Amino acid sequence: MIIIDGKKISQIIKEEIKEDVEKRNLKGLKQPHLAAVLVGDDGASQTYVNSKVIACQKVGFKSTLITKDKTISQNELLQVIDQLNEDKDIDGYIVQLPLPKHIDEEKVLMKVNPDKDVDGFHPYNFGKMALEMPTFISATPYGIMELLERYQIEVASKHCVVIGRSHIVGRPISILMSQKKKYANATVTLAHSRTKYLEELTKTADIIITALGNPEFLKADMVKEGVVVIDVGITRVSDPKAKRGYVLRGDVEFESVSKKAKAITPVPGGVGPMTIAMLLKNTLLACQRNEHK
Ligand code: NAD
Repeated sequence: MIIIDGKKISQIIKEEIKEDVEKRNLKGLKQPHLAAVLVGDDGASQTYVNSKVIACQKVGFKSTLITKDKTISQNELLQVIDQLNEDKDIDGYIVQLPLPKHIDEEKVLMKVNPDKDVDGFHPYNFGKMALEMPTFISATPYGIMELLERYQIEVASKHCVVIGRSHIVGRPISILMSQKKKYANATVTLAHSRTKYLEELTKTADIIITALGNPEFLKADMVKEGVVVIDVGITRVSDPKAKRGYVLRGDVEFESVSKKAKAITPVPGGVGPMTIAMLLKNTLLACQRNEHK
């Protein structure tokens, strides 16, 4: 059984990006610049954004963190987006989700200039991704595809069951896995909360991608021997014995499922670290594209 080490692969990718940045510096080219907008004081969002800023520094990117109080009005936030769109030094930026309830997320995401949309959430980029045109692929599904490729997991003609249909993970990964390209070409079933007889699907799956946010949902009796399991779920489960008062759990009961699996991602250390690495990759791409405009 192979444990797919997202931490290791993400470090390799970050090294590759760092080398590219060093080469750019030697040629006198612009330093890639990623900005992040954080609204409110949600602990998990702060942790994610901080790790993105640190990752930028490590690969030699410039980073800008814009923090706004949770009481910011929608119009004020849209003005921040306008400024980021106009700022020529910023190659790409992300708006950390979720946003406070009084703000219409769709309006904000639609305002992001697609050329700076390194999260790949804008419908323009999502559409291009679905049509197999070069674009920013959102970081988590992009990270999963990268893991499959770097571990040379056979995907073509396999039955892949994706559990979860969110716009940021389940839906895009179901599209990517079915595309006509290397390390894809799978036959995909997209399961969700209204799917009946899920176990019948997962038991026939060669590859299972879980993105539901339900800790240890996928059990060993739901999978067949030799399955490849990619666990996207990350949920904080309270644990008084843990230093921080909680532990991170994936959607897969790792202990039992790993005994049947051919390959599996752990949580933490699987898909999670890949997300930041792919965000950096998208930012470098945005910077390179800006040069050729
Ligand atoms: P979401 O809440 O937007 O969507 C969950 C999906 O799961 C829904 O489509 C729902 O239909 C489906 N679902 C829920 N219960 C189900 C059930 N019992 N059977 C079948 N389907 C069911 O979630 P999301 O934003 O896609 O995130 C999913 C998980 O992935 C979360 O734990 C999140 O923290 C994690 N996540 C991790 C990363 C990363 O970097 N690794 C990135 C994004 C999300």
